[in-house]
Amino acid sequence: MRCRNIKTLDMEPLARIENELKKCVKCGACRAHCPVFSVLGREPVSARGKIALARGVMTGTVPLDARTRADMSKCLLCGRCVEKCANDVPTDLIVLAAREVLARKRGLTPLSRMIRLLFGSRKLMNGCALLANVALPLLFRRIPASSGLRLRFPFRFFSRRRIPAMPRRPFLDRHPEVTEGRPDRPRVAYFIGCMTNFMYPQIGEAALGLLKELGCTVIIPKDQQCCGFPAISGGDFETFRFLAEKNLAALEKCSADVIVTACASCGGAFHRLYPRVLGERIPGLASRCEALAEKTVDAAVLLQRFGFEPSADGSGSCQRVFYHDPCHLRNRSVVREPRQLLRSLPGLELVDTERAASCCGLGGTFNYYHYNTSMEVNAGRLAAIADSKADTVATGCPGCMMQIADGLSRGRSGIRVRHLLEILAEKSPGNR
Ligand code: SF4
Ligand code: SF4
Repeated sequence: MRCRNIKTLDMEPLARIENELKKCVKCGACRAHCPVFSVLGREPVSARGKIALARGVMTGTVPLDARTRADMSKCLLCGRCVEKCANDVPTDLIVLAAREVLARKRGLTPLSRMIRLLFGSRKLMNGCALLANVALPLLFRRIPASSGLRLRFPFRFFSRRRIPAMPRRPFLDRHPEVTEGRPDRPRVAYFIGCMTNFMYPQIGEAALGLLKELGCTVIIPKDQQCCGFPAISGGDFETFRFLAEKNLAALEKCSADVIVTACASCGGAFHRLYPRVLGERIPGLASRCEALAEKTVDAAVLLQRFGFEPSADGSGSCQRVFYHDPCHLRNRSVVREPRQLLRSLPGLELVDTERAASCCGLGGTFNYYHYNTSMEVNAGRLAAIADSKADTVATGCPGCMMQIADGLSRGRSGIRVRHLLEILAEKSPGNR
């Protein structure tokens, strides 16, 4: 394959998955399942279209210009196309490789440069979080607390984005590194993720409480970092590798029996991106990435496996619950366990609909670059929630929580959005 665009070395991220690119037979079956295509209706933003663009970039028929970058950025990395493709074409990995080639040629975007600076340093992140806790309430417009989100950007560009208030102390600073449990129970390393640490520490508190109740020894490695998803989704392989190597070292050091996450995206990074994007590329890291993926489970799976038992008391803050499947849990077939856990709770009705599995539209940095499209995808989610007459939306991803709460905060439904673990913790015997 001839490459006229840039040096062959710069094309390496795409060249190494050239065989995967060739597997696409252009049948178009993926188009019907792509949330972005369903909103924008343009071939270049469908899975098939992006594969064609990536091929064009490799052969030199598609320029590495702003338009190609814009089309490549229009992907939620939801994996729905991968799930539905009969030829196992890994479109998500192809999009990431193309974004890396674009970043090599055109440089990182300002957002990716900020992610590199911030996420590359835990100290800087902590300092910014502290500053945000003090400064943001002064800068931001307040919105009703019942929405689950407290602050709204006052600036024109961000004027519609609503985010949770930042806590005074990140979760990682609140607890000792090791909480001893019973000797007959497993040692569990808890990987928190940035959104739980800095925005939703109550999810971490719920996870810790539930694990302690099961008698597990809980290790919260202090030197854990961002999983790297935001970096690699902007094509920044160096930052992704830097963070991944830190996490591998921090989690291996714990000698835990199992690693647990309550963030679908962090779990998705460990399960798919570490082995496929990092391990396959850096041979020395391959077996370590595979071992990490094997040891990592979602919190819902762990609780189900170790026999979570709710209190018999049927009272609580939610009665009718709609469960939203995060894409990065559905991709790993974690769909049964959260539902079983919710169904086990007395006094709670799980409202399961056909539409529980559609994407919320966040897509990490996608939401920043394409806010309107992101919220149009989200509108389908909100319609299903409204139809269900639920009083609460439960999910397993802090990112989905923020996105769904942002959409709901525009209406007056009063529907709350909570992490599955918050609901379970509220109904656990230790809380009664
Ligand atoms: S990615 Fe798969 S489903 Fe989509 S056009 Fe190619 S072969 Fe068909
Ligand atoms: S990963 Fe999701 S948004 Fe991206 S092309 Fe596939 S279906 Fe569309």
